[in-house]
Amino acid sequence: MRKVSILGATGSIGQNTIDLIRRAPERYNVVALTGGRNIAQLAQDARALNADIAVTAYTELLGDLRDALYGSGVDVAAGEAAIVEAADRPADWVMSAIVGAAGLPPGLQALKQGATLALANKESLVTAGPLLMSEAKKHGATVLPVDSEHSAVFQALVGEEISNVERVIITASGGAFRDWPVEQLAGATLEQASTHPNWAMGQRITIDSATMFNKAMEVIETKEYFGFDPEKIEVIIHPESLIHALVGFCDGAIMAHVGPADMRHAIGYALHWPERAHLPVERLDLAQIGMLRFKEPEPVRYPALRLASEVMKIGGLSGAIFTAAKEEALDGFIAGALGFLQMATIVEDVLSQLCSDQSLIKAEISLDNVRQVDHLARKRASEAIRRLQ
Ligand code: NDP
Ligand code: MG
Repeated sequence: MRKVSILGATGSIGQNTIDLIRRAPERYNVVALTGGRNIAQLAQDARALNADIAVTAYTELLGDLRDALYGSGVDVAAGEAAIVEAADRPADWVMSAIVGAAGLPPGLQALKQGATLALANKESLVTAGPLLMSEAKKHGATVLPVDSEHSAVFQALVGEEISNVERVIITASGGAFRDWPVEQLAGATLEQASTHPNWAMGQRITIDSATMFNKAMEVIETKEYFGFDPEKIEVIIHPESLIHALVGFCDGAIMAHVGPADMRHAIGYALHWPERAHLPVERLDLAQIGMLRFKEPEPVRYPALRLASEVMKIGGLSGAIFTAAKEEALDGFIAGALGFLQMATIVEDVLSQLCSDQSLIKAEISLDNVRQVDHLARKRASEAIRRLQ
């Protein structure tokens, strides 16, 4: 039996992972499930999967979790440190699906105990890619991509020499407002931004798709995971979301990964790697689909992509600043304190304030330094949000 843990089990990726595991319970021994505020879901899954431990990120919810799991035999714990401890419990495969920068410390811990880390939490790579990848190497652990575009690139590279790759193209749906007149974007509401044209995902990543902060993070994720030069990484809008990424080689061939817009494909690939297994996803009917379209992303509509290029140029801890400022700006938009377009303004403002400080940016990418710049960037972002009001 394979020992598996799921960090962020109550979220969209976590629930899709549980769906796959529940189909073959005889193959998996569930070690830890972690969640946040959704105690009912966490308790229900911990009972159903007979997990060793269930952990909520919030200490004030420990009592609720304990009550919900009374008599089940599942251990309970709460708080950030408890999540890191849960990730330290020996497991063969750990799904990293917490949303945001909070996913980094438990992901690193899972690598330290030598687990294969299925990485959905793209923020870990954007914030501290070199640290994550070097920890994996140091501990002989494997990191497998779960983000659909990166899983697609990973699959297109099987049996290929990285040095033969000329370009990597990741696709973007264009998000909720891809067809809106640019002049109307400033007035986009939370409800409108929380609806994705093709994918069913958590609210935060759905809004990040509308701004393309999600794609901006994915460009950085591509650089950090595969080590490609930023000039080789392209983004193209593909409204059907059926091609997830394309890899262009030195002989002019392009390998495209085509599949349904269902995260269980990429999760299942990482779960069964290096093998392929039967997965309960839709089989595409190409004649029915008829046509696949592609379009250049307009820079005025998606300033986040330009910011990602700047972050890759600056390097060092600028990715941690970018992630933290983006998270604060997103919180501001969700709370109604910021307009849709102001999210990018805040991130740009914080980057320009902090990235001129070379001693800050070029400090070692360690967990402590990441925490420090994360704190500073959030502070500067909330000040900038207040100034706009
Ligand atoms: P969700 O918002 O649906 O779920 C997030 C999970 O993290 C939940 O279990 C949530 O708990 C938990 N959580 C929230 N805040 C904290 C915290 N501070 N500490 C610990 N746990 C916390 O997110 P998604 O599943 O959509 O995304 C997860 C990650 O995967 C993100 O990094 C995202 O970018 C990435 N990803 C997602 C895709 C998708 O299709 N959804 C596709 C590709 C990548 P609770 O809900 O109980 O509060
Ligand atoms: Mg993606």
